[in-house]
Amino acid sequence: MEWETVIGLEVHVSLSTKSKLFSGTASEFGAEPNTQANIFDLALPGTLPVFNEEALKMAVRFGLAIGAEIGERSVFDRKNYFYPDLPKGYQVTQLDFPTVGKGALTITLEDGTEKVIGVTRAHIEENAGKSLHEEFSGQSGIDLNRAGEPLLEIVSEPEITNAKEAVAYLKKLHSIVRYLDISDAIMAQGSMRCDVNVSIRPKGETELGTRTEIKNINSFRFVEKAINSEIIRQQEVIEDGGEVVQETRRYDANKDITTSMRSKEVANDYRYFPEPDLLPVVIDESFISAIKAELPELPDAKKERFMQEFSLSNYDAGVLTATREMAEYFEEVAKNCGDAKLAANWVTGDLLALLNKNDMEITESPIRSERLATLISRIKDNTISGKIAKTVFETMLEDDAGVDEIIEKKGLKQVTDTGEIEKLVDEVIANNPDQVQQLKDGKEQVLGFLVGQAMKLSQGKANPGQVNQLLREKIQ
Ligand code: ADP
Ligand code: MG
Repeated sequence: MEWETVIGLEVHVSLSTKSKLFSGTASEFGAEPNTQANIFDLALPGTLPVFNEEALKMAVRFGLAIGAEIGERSVFDRKNYFYPDLPKGYQVTQLDFPTVGKGALTITLEDGTEKVIGVTRAHIEENAGKSLHEEFSGQSGIDLNRAGEPLLEIVSEPEITNAKEAVAYLKKLHSIVRYLDISDAIMAQGSMRCDVNVSIRPKGETELGTRTEIKNINSFRFVEKAINSEIIRQQEVIEDGGEVVQETRRYDANKDITTSMRSKEVANDYRYFPEPDLLPVVIDESFISAIKAELPELPDAKKERFMQEFSLSNYDAGVLTATREMAEYFEEVAKNCGDAKLAANWVTGDLLALLNKNDMEITESPIRSERLATLISRIKDNTISGKIAKTVFETMLEDDAGVDEIIEKKGLKQVTDTGEIEKLVDEVIANNPDQVQQLKDGKEQVLGFLVGQAMKLSQGKANPGQVNQLLREKIQ
């Protein structure tokens, strides 16, 4: 039997507001436990929520960025459940009237083709606190720093068909929220989290199969692995004559399997009802257009512009706009060296290879954009050849000195002195009489060989254009 996979993602990003969703407490990552929790966050009786308008603006910003319908009236609801890290006994969320309605985002697949994935909705809700099980023996600790932190939950349509697409979707979301400056979206720190809904069905079937939900996966790589392992598990269950049970599962990265956590809750279990302590949030056209006017250039638009303005390929423009930091780095190099094409080659080539090798982000680059720009400028003004530039680049990693100083120190300047080049050319002609004769007889390919010999003699420093010209002149 041939199967096809259906995936829908629920992604939580923490909004980087200064204070919490309904209280004035800060919610910075990494603070000492319970130092960022006030009487409201602790759910002391008599305290009341005050809605943080910044969170609303950020949610609308996101909605506009994905071309979504914006809810002019959104309503907060209580989702009731008991857990030690939820002192109120309910989470405030938006059930039927979310701030952000239907939208879409475009992902680029590995072969370069694009696919549009529908976004069902994005609603604002508060985070719960955190239970700490490892730090104490025989006890659990409760840290309420995170309680009440604003989240945006972004729900996709079940339109993703494999693990690679799921990762591409997540990376695109990650990129967009960072361009928008509404979240750090650091998976390892929990400011971006992902629940994956997976089902399978016989190829060609239109009805959805029963899904499982894998909770809280905290890296792109694990999302991919968890999906692939869950697909295989579901196939085995069905092919062994069983049925997939709708349930919540967790991914065990060590064993590369998913295991059952609990049976799936349904909306009814939570006894949702409208939050009586908060009014519906009503926004008007002018509120929305003010936010629209301040939207930054987003990855798709930037990519398009890079292709137009700098004549970059679709692929290079995609790589250079994948993250906001990468785009900024590239634009600085391009501006400072005055050659976008060369800048793109160096950033997507040598620099990216270096970063990948060391598992570094562009923000951690050991070579700052101004230095790379200077290096490229020296290729452009013929101080060094492109090949020698690679040697300089290597040296720059170990030596903090300026680019010019390195070129000077290592004696790497390109030889353009006609006298010196003539000496080289004469030597090559004297040493290779056979090839010279072949060239005279019209065997053009030999010229490349002779130029190569001269370049070798000069240790790569001769200007190849001059060598070429002089060789030709002398031989003919
Ligand atoms: P809940 O709120 O109970 O988690 P939703 O209906 O809101 O359920 O769906 C949550 C996510 O699950 C959405 O991203 C949706 O696209 C996805 N989803 C729903 N049904 C399926 C299915 N049969 N297979 C895969 N994904 C699904
Ligand atoms: Mg869910």
